[in-house]
This record gives sequence, structure tokens and C-alpha cells, in this order.
Amino acid sequence: MGDTTKGSHETFVGSIDQGTTSTRFLIFKPDGEPIASHQIEFKQIYPHPGWHEHDPLEIIESVQQCIEGAVKDLENQGHSAGNIKAVGITNQRETTVLWNHETGEPLYNAIVWTDTRTAALVRKLKQRLGADRLPDLCGLPLSTYPSVGKLLWLLENEPKVKEAYDKGILAFGTIDAWLVYRLNGGPKKNVFVSDPTNASRTMFMNLKTLNYDDQLIDFFRLDSSKIHLPKITQSSHPTAYGSLESGVLKGVPITGCLGDQSAALVGQKGFTPGLAKNTYGTGCFLLYNVGEKPVFSSHGLLGTVAYDFGEGKRMYALEGSIAVAGSSVKFLVDNFGFVESSSKISQLAQTVDDNGGVVFVTAFSGLFAPYWIDDAMGTIYGITAYTQRGHIARATLEATCFQTQAILAAMEKDSGHKLAELAVDGGMSNSDLCMQTQSDLIQIPVIRPKMRETTALGAAIAAGLAVGVWESIDELKEINLEGRTVFKPQMEEAKSKEMFGRWEKAVQMSRGWSS
Ligand code: ADP
Repeated sequence: MGDTTKGSHETFVGSIDQGTTSTRFLIFKPDGEPIASHQIEFKQIYPHPGWHEHDPLEIIESVQQCIEGAVKDLENQGHSAGNIKAVGITNQRETTVLWNHETGEPLYNAIVWTDTRTAALVRKLKQRLGADRLPDLCGLPLSTYPSVGKLLWLLENEPKVKEAYDKGILAFGTIDAWLVYRLNGGPKKNVFVSDPTNASRTMFMNLKTLNYDDQLIDFFRLDSSKIHLPKITQSSHPTAYGSLESGVLKGVPITGCLGDQSAALVGQKGFTPGLAKNTYGTGCFLLYNVGEKPVFSSHGLLGTVAYDFGEGKRMYALEGSIAVAGSSVKFLVDNFGFVESSSKISQLAQTVDDNGGVVFVTAFSGLFAPYWIDDAMGTIYGITAYTQRGHIARATLEATCFQTQAILAAMEKDSGHKLAELAVDGGMSNSDLCMQTQSDLIQIPVIRPKMRETTALGAAIAAGLAVGVWESIDELKEINLEGRTVFKPQMEEAKSKEMFGRWEKAVQMSRGWSS
């Protein structure tokens, strides 16, 4: 195309956003605006109640198709794909892929972060000597959520995995490592790396050193000589992640890698300690930048890595993770046909004035932060003959807002600071009603950017910083500020406290159902 294309000196950065329900590829301009994109939903596999899997090869295929689709979109607008300087990756975290280190072939479906098959195994691990020390090393408490339980379950239950382990050819990776490995062509180049934001979700990484820790590996009784773990590399790096081996972007370097929630914090420009963002996707994840040293929570939050942009540019976060958020809306749509699509849920909720006394504890995968109740199940309280679908729709949106309220209370206790405002994004943040409810409950402004692909933007930022598209994070300050919506609290504080009290009562009552 050469000179016939628009602006041959243009610069773009690509971003692979490999989420729980869909894969996207977005192409960003240096001003932070996406210029082209493509999205594909892929299969959710639920073999038994509580089990949740993805096909690792379908995930790779979806990434490749999204790249092709977005590049076509870019070229249709008269721009050249040759101006894409680098690609960043952001991904669903904790989801675990095991493959044959020699052939690159997966040994089982990916076990998704929401999967609860490891509940019994986790109960046993909690009784092991030293279990209570784990959060002080890796930032995470034992639960069904991190990758380690998924690996241990597969070693116990899947003969192919055990055989590969015994032969010393078992490769373990989170989705970022799997993508980087396969997009680089697999075993031939064997680019086998992960970044600290992803590695910190396995329970194998020491949060202070950002290296694998033998104390952790030993606790899980794993033989590190028999298992290949990806090398932990900073989140933004010009060469460590290799380059795309095939397709329309063949040869373009992969230079950024961030777990999805860290990427959203970066995309929301949460670069300063004290800033926080909440992403309402399939689940909901609040990350609070705590600065250059890790903070270990005493109130049910996770200590995690915000991002690692190299020496002196490494930040930690406190995180509140909610397992079920947008997926509860999808549940009302898919399983009960309440409305035809998730985007219509607010309309249904607005057919009633309030929740009519209904509280929905959406504990489909137990309850995560700050409660960590593995044996809770989804439970609806307060149903009477008066209850309409609208009340349940409202209670569904409120469930995520209440959990966010509980997380903010825990964060305040851990950090000693009250948050001034909350930046939001993710599919469910499209609901004005949900965001207004959120602001009412937490009694601080909720700020929603106009361009809400912040997760993808975060990965593009990590990639762009490595190749000089942006020289420093200072250059990013003005990005995506225009057109923000601010939701200010409109509810009396006393009312918010009363509603929260009823929620907390419901949480206590949901305990123990699945045990
Ligand atoms: P992920 O990246 O985890 O796949 P997204 O950020 O794409 O998730 O958000 C998708 C989720 O948001 C879905 O579960 C969907 O039910 C929910 N969602 C999307 N739009 C709306 C809306 N307008 N109101 C409420 N929920 C919504």
C-alpha cells in the first residue's frame, strides 16, 4: 500500500484482550483512542455444576481471528498495518493451561478462574501446617480462585497430566504465558514467560521478590524439577515476549503483558498511590494502588502486583475480587429469559422503585472478597407474593454494589484512608442505574470514562512504553479524560447503611449451604 495509505508516519499499538467470555483485538492511536477492533465470543464449557473450562486451542484461534478482523478494519479505513509498532497482551487471570513442553499440545482444557471443583482439595490444604503463612508470602489466601489448586487437581485426577509431570515435560502457564508461547510459534522458539501481575495469581510467586519461592512450591509438595514454569519478566519489555510468528502482523513484537485487572488500573491511569478502579466484567475487581511496597491485607483483600514497568516503576495493589458480577446479569438473561440481552437489565430494574425487600447473594462460585466463604451458594432472600422480576433484576445489580461496598470498607481498614472517588469500567458499568446505586451505597463519586476499553488500553500502554510510543507515563495523563460521566451520591447515608446491614445479614445466612 505504501504511499497510497493515509499518514505513512502514523503509529499504532495493538492490544489482545483475552477475557473470560470473549477475545478482542483493539488497535490504539497514541492519543489513547481505539481506531479499529474485532471481538469474538468463545465457548464456555460447564461439564458439571461448579466446573468451568475453556478450550486452549479455541482461545488461540480466537486471538488470531480477532487480529485479522481488526487489521482488516484498520486497512478498510485506509491505514497501514505496517504502522502497528507493538502488541500488548491482557488476559483473564488464574485460568490455568497445562501442556506438553516438547510438543506444545494442551493436556486438558483450561480450568477457568471461576471453577470451584477444587473446594474439597482447598479445605485439605487449609489444614496443612504453614497454610496460614501463605498470604504473607504470596498475598493470596487459599481458595478455589488461584491457579495452584487447578494444577494440583489435574495432577491428582488427569492421568495424562501426572504422566507428563513424572516425565518432566509438564508445562504450566496462565493464559498470558500460553498466548505468548503459542503466538511465538510454540516449542521451536519456546518463548515461555509471564509477567508478575499474572504470576502473582498462581500462589507460586513471592510478592516481595517477584520470583518463584521454594517455600510456596514445597508447601504444595511439588517437585520444581518436574514442572516447567514460565520465567517471570517485567510487564513492559522490548524483547522478552518475542514476536508474532504468523498472520497479518507477522514479526510485530509483543512488548506488554498485564493481567486484566492490572491492565484496567493502568488504562484508568491509576499510577499514583491512593487511586483505585473497579471493573464490572464477568466478575468485578477493585484494585487500589498502594505504592512501591506490597501491603498484606488483614481484612480479606488480596495483595497483588499492580504493574512492573522496570526498576523504580513497579507498583503494588490491594485487590477486592468479586467472583460474580456481569455474569449474574447474563444468568438472568440466559437461564431465565428475563430480558433479551444484558443491556436491557436496567430497563427491567427500573420498572420498580426499589428491591421490594429482595436481597440476592449471587454466590455462584462461593463468595470471594472480603468474605471468602467457599461453601456459600447463590441464595435469594425476601421473596413474597409481591415480588416481580424487576425486584430480582434490581437485587442482582445491587449484589455487586454491596460487595464493592464491603471491599471498600475492608480497604479503608487496611490502608487507613478513605477513597475519594472510584473510577469504573467493564460491561456492567454501562448500566447507569447500577453506577448510581454504587455511588449511593459507597457515598463517594463514581467516575466512568467515555472510552471504556480501559483493559485493552492498559495492555497497549505497557506495550507502547517498551518501544517508545510513549516515553513515560507522564505523557499519558491527558488520555481519555473527555466525556466522563460522574455519578454523585443521592441517597441518605443512613439509608445506605440500612441496606448494607440487610445484605450482610443475607451473606451470613448463605453460609454452609454447599458443605
Ligand atoms: P469480560 O471482560 O469479563 O468478559 P465485559 O467487561 O465484556 O466482561 O462485561 C461483560 C459482562 O457485562 C457480561 O456478563 C454482561 O452480562 C454484563 N453487561 C454488559 N452490558 C451490561 C449492561 N448494560 N448492564 C448490565 N450488565 C451488562
